[in-house]
Amino acid sequence: MPSSSLARELRAVIRTGRVLDDPAELDSYSYDASFAAFLHPCPPDVAVQPTTTADVAAVLRLADRLEVPVTPRGAATGQSGGAVPVKGGIVIDLSQMKRVLDLDAPNLQLFCEPGVVHADVNALLARAGLVFPPDPGSSRMCTIGGMVSTNARGMRAIKYGATSEWVLGLEVVLADGSVIWTGSPGSRALQSASGYELSKLFAGAEGTLGVITQLRLKVRPLPPARGLTLAAFPSLEATTAGLSAVLGAGILPSAVEIFDQRMIETANRFRPDLGLPSAAALLLFEVDGNLPGVHYDAQEIARVVRPFARQVDWADDPPRVAQIWEARSVAGAAVGLLQPKGVRAYAGEDICVPITRLGEALERIQAISAEYGVPIASYGHIGGGIVHAALVADLTATEQLARVEQAADAINCLALELGGTVTGEHGVGFVRARYLEREHGPALAVMRQIKRALDPKGILNPGKFV
Ligand SMILES: Cc1cc2nc3c(=O)[nH]c(=O)nc-3n(C[C@H](O)[C@H](O)[C@H](O)COP(=O)(O)OP(=O)(O)OC[C@H]3O[C@@H](n4cnc5c(N)ncnc54)[C@H](O)[C@@H]3O)c2cc1C
Repeated sequence: MPSSSLARELRAVIRTGRVLDDPAELDSYSYDASFAAFLHPCPPDVAVQPTTTADVAAVLRLADRLEVPVTPRGAATGQSGGAVPVKGGIVIDLSQMKRVLDLDAPNLQLFCEPGVVHADVNALLARAGLVFPPDPGSSRMCTIGGMVSTNARGMRAIKYGATSEWVLGLEVVLADGSVIWTGSPGSRALQSASGYELSKLFAGAEGTLGVITQLRLKVRPLPPARGLTLAAFPSLEATTAGLSAVLGAGILPSAVEIFDQRMIETANRFRPDLGLPSAAALLLFEVDGNLPGVHYDAQEIARVVRPFARQVDWADDPPRVAQIWEARSVAGAAVGLLQPKGVRAYAGEDICVPITRLGEALERIQAISAEYGVPIASYGHIGGGIVHAALVADLTATEQLARVEQAADAINCLALELGGTVTGEHGVGFVRARYLEREHGPALAVMRQIKRALDPKGILNPGKFV
């Protein structure tokens, strides 16, 4: 159907939202943060910015009747092409459904719409002494709906788990336009053992099973204090041994981040004032809780890790903690310095490996870097095994682009070979769909059956992992 007719039909059914069909506006819906979308942007035929569940349901009823693809979209910070409308059709931009509906502090839960930005939720909760613990690096941009749909993780997943752990219920518009609540409609209970856990099915479905229009989220008291221990290691073997020693010492850090040697050097070039110690790798352990507990844990980690490390430093006073964390926060920006005109290409960037294979993974990533001539620095939430290999290229040099894709493929294959996964937190989208058969085997057929049962016409986010 021509986009002008589709836009006309949509304007006839939408009550309050906007329908966009200007090609310039549609271009901005043709990509997310992935390298693949940079190479192959796909604009939709029409984009809709609904403001109510009724509008979303109306869009899906129309799409069902016309059999037009629908791709939900939050802030498009995704790195796997999930929000890219690879088959055209309609993008439902949920960024305008951004109201916090109810903070029920005594019952430790919050009701909100999907387009609210994660950092805004936590700013509001902090005023009530609460927190929604999942904590992706894109917190200031990404939406809660996008986080739930990708089952996002982040630095603190080692202690607080994935986003789905914090979802109590979801309002979802299904492919035919009908609306359901998961997690027992009307319930304010914090636990339920009743029925299939449908919230967990929609969380991580990347918009392939329904469109999330409201959320009931679990929150918890905000830990009053944080402490950090920074350890520099002479070798990758010592790094793995130090990490395993801490994880085996009866302390559960709230985050464990790693910098490989190249990342340390690059961060120091980007911000010489940080003065990171030179080492084969750095580990940053964060602990949270009350001040005496944090004080004890940060020191205890320093004690446990010292036999393996070249240098150890710990802190629990907020200015020093913030100063040490600053090093972690510059990682994304610093990697551009790896080569002239270098830009980070988000490809092969999200593998997760068993902690015991960490050293091997980092070494082989550097071998892949040398083989394909693509500079790579690695960092990541290593407490959960996540290695963000940051591939850098001059994106205006076409011959470099193919090498980036080859290096990314080699890194993804390496993760599978080491008993890991191609995506520890960013999701599958269309970028990693080709690895799913290998990673899941016959279980992929079950995922496809679920997809067919909920979306028999294949309207929702087609061209993605199922
Ligand atoms: C600098 C940077 C740092 C990042 N750090 C992390 C990190 O630490 N941890 C992590 O997990 N991720 C991280 N990411 C990836 C990304 O930010 C997350 O996946 C985030 O949760 C995506 O949210 P979004 O609103 O941008 O979703 P989008 O990118 O817009 O969408 C992501 C997927 O969810 C679907 N979707 C969005 N909203 C809905 C909805 N309401 N209903 C149904 N489906 C929907 C889309 O169709 C798509 O498949 C990072 C990204 C960047 C750019």
